Amino acid sequence: MRYEGSVYRPPSEADSLILQATIGCAHNKCTFCSMYKDKSFRVRSESDIFEDLRVARKQYPHVEKFFIADGNALVMSTERLTRLFDEIKRLFPECKRVGIYASPSDILRKSKEDLMKFKSQGLGILYMGIESGSDEVLKAVEKGVSRADIIEAGIKVKEADIVLSVMIISGLGGKDKWREHAVASAEVINAIKPKYLGLLTLLLEPDAPLYRQVSSGKFQLLTPEMALEETHLFIESLHVEDCVFRGNHASNYISLRGVLPDDKERLLARLKREIECMDDQLKYKPRAL
Ligand code: SF4
Repeated sequence: MRYEGSVYRPPSEADSLILQATIGCAHNKCTFCSMYKDKSFRVRSESDIFEDLRVARKQYPHVEKFFIADGNALVMSTERLTRLFDEIKRLFPECKRVGIYASPSDILRKSKEDLMKFKSQGLGILYMGIESGSDEVLKAVEKGVSRADIIEAGIKVKEADIVLSVMIISGLGGKDKWREHAVASAEVINAIKPKYLGLLTLLLEPDAPLYRQVSSGKFQLLTPEMALEETHLFIESLHVEDCVFRGNHASNYISLRGVLPDDKERLLARLKREIECMDDQLKYKPRAL
């Protein structure tokens, strides 16, 4: 396998073989994201991708899962994706699941029939960054899609019977919009009802445009106490069924994990306890940039 630059994958794809079918992110404008700022987007040539697969076949006797990178590999044309999934199936008949990152726009450009075909070819899970359910926040961070687009895309994936994993970023509304961000994000999750829901906390690197807005005072990061209050309001506003919630990313102030709605009260009680016991030094001080 050949890789270009830093390669990112969801935590649950730690055991998967990563195939970099595209380089970078086709959107690459979100102000909080610096993952692909050093890459110009392109789809790799089919001959290079297939050569990587043939080499991997010789190296790895058993590949249970594949993950297709980079940032929004579902942007590839339906024809290219169909040929790619076929080739994975042909060379790795033992592969049980293929996963991929997708933006809401990529999903909306595919028909439900396209997605159902991908599912029949082995596409088992799709990871979509929602980031926020608030149109104001989505616009401010230049996500390039609306709340309605996100809901439509999420429902389409579910109707195609592909497992959907989505992600919300705590703190993305800043001090001005944290309540709206929490409630609107929960509303979007309630409308989609994904199988997996991840919660990360906003963590900015210097080449993220939002970093400069923080430095200039235009955007104010949440204090740890506010971040936990926001998470409390978010979870309290969730009404989902059999949803695996993971708020245990390294960026989060506390590690939360459970299945909703069964663990909702336990998670809320834990958040309340943490807020009450938080050391004053930590409580009011946003994480240093
Ligand atoms: S958050 Fe996702 S869509 Fe936005 S720039 Fe980063 S990789 Fe691209």
